[in-house]
Amino acid sequence: MNYALVTGGSRGIGSAICIKLAEMGFAILLNYKSNDEEANNTKQKIEALGVPCELLKFDVSNPEETTAVLTNWLDAHKDAKIEVLVNNAGIRQDNLIVFMPEEQWHSVINSNLNAFYYISKIVVKNMLAARYGRIINIVSLSGTKGMAGQTNYSAAKAGVIGATKALALEIAKRNITVNAVAPGFIATDMTKDLNEKELSEHIPMKRFGTPQEVADTVGFLASKSASYITGQVISINGGLST
Ligand code: NDP
Repeated sequence: MNYALVTGGSRGIGSAICIKLAEMGFAILLNYKSNDEEANNTKQKIEALGVPCELLKFDVSNPEETTAVLTNWLDAHKDAKIEVLVNNAGIRQDNLIVFMPEEQWHSVINSNLNAFYYISKIVVKNMLAARYGRIINIVSLSGTKGMAGQTNYSAAKAGVIGATKALALEIAKRNITVNAVAPGFIATDMTKDLNEKELSEHIPMKRFGTPQEVADTVGFLASKSASYITGQVISINGGLST
């Protein structure tokens, strides 16, 4: 069985990615942190497609928990191939740097950047053995452009972009691609506190994007059709970065 592991798959962009990858035939390993109800909703949608979905509840910012859950799963599924890894789980805690407590800096770096290391280190071993894999990291316009009030989040996402490019070089010869997808404003729980109407005025397409629009690009990068694309950052932002 070929699996796709999606972190933060319970809601928003991650949920849309799980469903897209399930439609493509991957059995889904759905990670989430705490929202059992939303995780089960997404699981039901996947199973309605006739595709298996396993919930892996762990906090990606906790190295001990992440390592324990993933290594136990791999030990219990010796022949399983995780063909696709989508590092999607993420949080934002915006503040101007002069007001930012250390805790806000570290929690955003831990959840968005350090989690990439904890998870990829384990899954890449499985991909190297299979001599095949697709890793897709969800970053942000904040990481490519920088966003006021988001030094922590911009630093974390820019860090993942650097890691994407470096890891792509490390494992290209084993037929494993590593790419990043950088959304602009996407309508999810993460952006529901923002003034969508006002911000949309600054977006050339005059609207927020949808989780589905991100998931479709992730699906392409996860497919055999994207076999010669690696180390790239694909922006999905309605023209905002130009
Ligand atoms: P949401 O807030 O809607 O969902 C976040 C998801 O991540 C949930 O599934 C949540 O699980 C999970 N999660 C959060 N922290 C952890 C953790 N420590 N361990 C495990 N799972 C965790 O976010 P979006 O869908 O909007 O964002 C998805 C990704 O896209 C993030 O990396 C974000 O930074 C990025 N992004 C989003 C943009 C946007 O405009 N929405 C723009 C650019 C990038 P649970 O349900 O259990 O809480």
